[in-house]
Amino acid sequence: MDLISRRVVFKALVFLCFIRSSQGRDHFTKLNLPPFLKASRFPTFQHEAYDYIIVGGGTAGCPLASTLSQKFKVLLLERGGSPYGNRNITLLENFHICLADVSPESPAQGFISTDGVINARAKVLGGGTCINAGFYSRAKPSFVQQAGWDADLVNQSYPWVEERIVHWPKVAPWQAALRDGLLEAGVSPYNGYTYDHLYGTKVGGTIFDETGYRHTAADLLAAANPNNLRVLLYASVNKIVFNTKQGHRKPRAIGVQFKDENGRHHQAFLREERGSEIIVSAGAIGSPQLLLLSGIGPRNELKKHNISVTIRNEHVGKGMSDNPMNSIFVPMKSPTKQSLIETVGITDAGVFIEASSGFSQTDDSIHCHHGIMSAEVWSLFAFSFTC
Ligand SMILES: Cc1cc2nc3c(=O)[nH]c(=O)nc-3n(C[C@H](O)[C@H](O)[C@H](O)COP(=O)(O)OP(=O)(O)OC[C@H]3O[C@@H](n4cnc5c(N)ncnc54)[C@H](O)[C@@H]3O)c2cc1C
Repeated sequence: MDLISRRVVFKALVFLCFIRSSQGRDHFTKLNLPPFLKASRFPTFQHEAYDYIIVGGGTAGCPLASTLSQKFKVLLLERGGSPYGNRNITLLENFHICLADVSPESPAQGFISTDGVINARAKVLGGGTCINAGFYSRAKPSFVQQAGWDADLVNQSYPWVEERIVHWPKVAPWQAALRDGLLEAGVSPYNGYTYDHLYGTKVGGTIFDETGYRHTAADLLAAANPNNLRVLLYASVNKIVFNTKQGHRKPRAIGVQFKDENGRHHQAFLREERGSEIIVSAGAIGSPQLLLLSGIGPRNELKKHNISVTIRNEHVGKGMSDNPMNSIFVPMKSPTKQSLIETVGITDAGVFIEASSGFSQTDDSIHCHHGIMSAEVWSLFAFSFTC
């Protein structure tokens, strides 16, 4: 290649890199999000009170904050930072890098459960939608019924989410192979492209767009009323504050206590109105953890940790699960096109069979380029997005 052609190629590469790296920024500007404040900037002297205080700005917390802010004054407290500008979150190709990041700033907090399961939980505005495989499905109707929700309202709410952050995937080769394999194995009928939870094989929605850019629950804050919503980042809530005045038969939650990024403590309070609420949407681990720290849980557990009992509830912290699954790794000689979950098989035994491809493990470990997972049918996305 002569010097001129090399320069042309080099300039083209620089241009392409610029387009790719500015994608996240453009997206952020286009969204017109409400301002995000660091928790240290929360004015402690200001006696601002809220109709709703939402703990956890994740998959459930962000859309709740957006919808409630249409009519009410809302404070959203998230222990992590902003997802915008973090390419480990926004780009599909960095899915595995994001999960493997163990730095203190990582949006994924790795952990191993007491029974030895390796997993991660989110620590970032947008929550699990910033670190997960991005598959989107509507809930099983029987799940909605069992939860006691208004099915019509749930059905009306889905498009609110879908129009904003859900896309149809261009089915990747490994996903097409899984689709054909599932049908051959009898996971039928083929239901085509659908968000609905139907038995058989289908292609579902994804929060990655056609360029591989991840759209998260944080994007849903763009639909909020900015005059009614305050979003604090790096705000770790460590206690729900209860009204302990004499004469109150039942303890009433009146506010929360949280730590900012510098370790300083703050408090925020609800308006003294009937119907004001603290909503705990801190995830499968964070929510029971906060309840326990606030004295809500099994008496013996609380006693063991010298926490005085506010409300006795034997179920808090029990039977928790989030994204439980079994995986099979399929080592390949050559890398394949990367894909996250697009095709699923839903069996009447109550499992999802799904797959990802092209995310190898570390260089010195076995190269696992394809994977198949089977997960319990799990409807948290619908649960999370009910608005
Ligand atoms: C690797 C992986 C892949 C997955 N893939 C999929 C998928 O493809 N499709 C799907 O539907 N589901 C998937 N899931 C599951 C899905 O992401 C979760 O079920 C969902 O995000 C849970 O939503 P949530 O709102 O309950 O919690 P989260 O989205 O986790 O939100 C909780 C938020 O609360 C914050 N928080 C916690 N404690 C506190 C505190 N004390 N103070 C302040 N903030 C706090 C956290 O930082 C977090 O942002 C996956 C999960 C994992 C881990």
